[in-house]
Amino acid sequence: MMNHTDTAREKLIVALDFSEAESALALDQRLGDVVRWVKVGLELFSAAGPRVVRALRDRDRQVFLDLKLHDIPNTVVGAVRAAADHGAGLLTLHAEGGPAMMEAACQARDASGSGLRLLAVTVLTSLDGTEYPTVYRSGEVKDRVAAFARAAHKAGVDGVVCSPLELESLVGVVPDDFLKVTPGIRPGGTPTEDQSRVATPAAAMKAGASHLVIGRPITRAHDPSQAVRDILESLTDL
Ligand code: C5P
Repeated sequence: MMNHTDTAREKLIVALDFSEAESALALDQRLGDVVRWVKVGLELFSAAGPRVVRALRDRDRQVFLDLKLHDIPNTVVGAVRAAADHGAGLLTLHAEGGPAMMEAACQARDASGSGLRLLAVTVLTSLDGTEYPTVYRSGEVKDRVAAFARAAHKAGVDGVVCSPLELESLVGVVPDDFLKVTPGIRPGGTPTEDQSRVATPAAAMKAGASHLVIGRPITRAHDPSQAVRDILESLTDL
């Protein structure tokens, strides 16, 4: 039977942002069984390749492969198949790749029979400022995020990655059970580093997040496993 902490554990994804497999796997080891999900991003995957995903799967981790695919449908289909073969449980692609690309990716997901779920990236938060008009020319970020989320849902994608501050703009746009995976999370009292638009784990969950991606507040903690336990504890009353 699942208790409250098990339920919270399913919602937390620890970002293993390292430049080589050994450091990532060593940190993962320190997390122990309080963690179920880890994220492998572009840096680690480019450096270490599928080997690191398979090593994590061998430890019974669920892997969020954050490759932010953005290419023609045929190429994305091949990448989705390969990610499913490696045992990834979540994989990102850019909604900007268009409906045909997202639909093709969903067909590859279904054909893989692997349980892989796809997440769309909407507007990168790094563009959310003076760069936005140079890329998109017009409109507001939140409207574009909502439009991308709607298109991703229509194409059959399982969810989106979004900032906790964008969750509100998705209410009524996509169903409640559409996945909403949010980085930019800072437990109370931890440094914000380069994240400018942040929320606490509990605030993000209350605003509708289905999963939280948390990196440095855990990976740079003196005791990473304790940092996770503290975060899970803050979520058990929700
Ligand atoms: O260390 P930190 O908790 O800031 O890590 C957050 C993770 O989420 C990193 O892997 C980062 O690439 C990712 N991310 C983010 N902000 C976004 C999108 C993704 O921090 N807007």
